[in-house]
Amino acid sequence: MERIAIFPGSFDPITVGHESIVRRAMPIFDKIIIAIGYNSAKKGFFPLKERIKWIEEIFKNDSKIVVDKYEGLTAEYCKKINANYILRGLRTAADFEYERAIGQMNKMLNNKVETIFMLTKPEHSPISSTIVRDIIRHGGDASLFVPKEIEYEINNNTSLN
Ligand code: ADP
Repeated sequence: MERIAIFPGSFDPITVGHESIVRRAMPIFDKIIIAIGYNSAKKGFFPLKERIKWIEEIFKNDSKIVVDKYEGLTAEYCKKINANYILRGLRTAADFEYERAIGQMNKMLNNKVETIFMLTKPEHSPISSTIVRDIIRHGGDASLFVPKEIEYEINNNTSLN
C-alpha cells in the first residue's frame, strides 16, 4: 500500500521549520501532500493562491511533494484522498498537548489514519508563521525564517492584499 501522508496547516506563510519537517519526512513516505486548510469565511494574511504558489516553488524539484488546499475536517479530507498518515511537527511541550488532543480525536473520526510527529530541529523551535507575520507587518526582515525561494516576495509584501 502506498504510504500517503498529509502535512496540514495554514502555512501563512510557510517557514524554514515547515520545510525542514517535510524534507526530513520525505524518505519515510511515498507521497506527502502539503495541505493548506482554509476557511472561506476567514481571510488569511497572505492570499491562499500565493501560499500555494510559494510551496510549489520551494518543492518544484521534489516529485513526492504535492500541494493542495481543503476546507473542513482534516479527517474527512484524508478519507477523500486516501491518505493514511497525518504528519505534524512538534516544537514545544505546548505543541504536544495541543497536537495530542487533535491526533487522538482524528483517530476517532477516521480510524484508518495515524498521526506521525516529528521533532523540530532545535534551531527551528522558536519559529512560527505568527511571528513571521508580525515581522512583516512591522516592516522587519523575515529572511532568516522563510525559505530562500520566497524571501524576496515575502519581505517586499508583493502579494499582500
Ligand atoms: P496550524 O495552522 O495548524 O497552526 P501551521 O501552518 O502553523 O499550522 O503549521 C503546520 C504544522 O507545522 C504543524 O504541525 C506545526 O506544529 C508545524 N510547525 C509549525 N512551525 C514549525 C517549526 N518552526 N518547525 C517545525 N514544525 C513546525
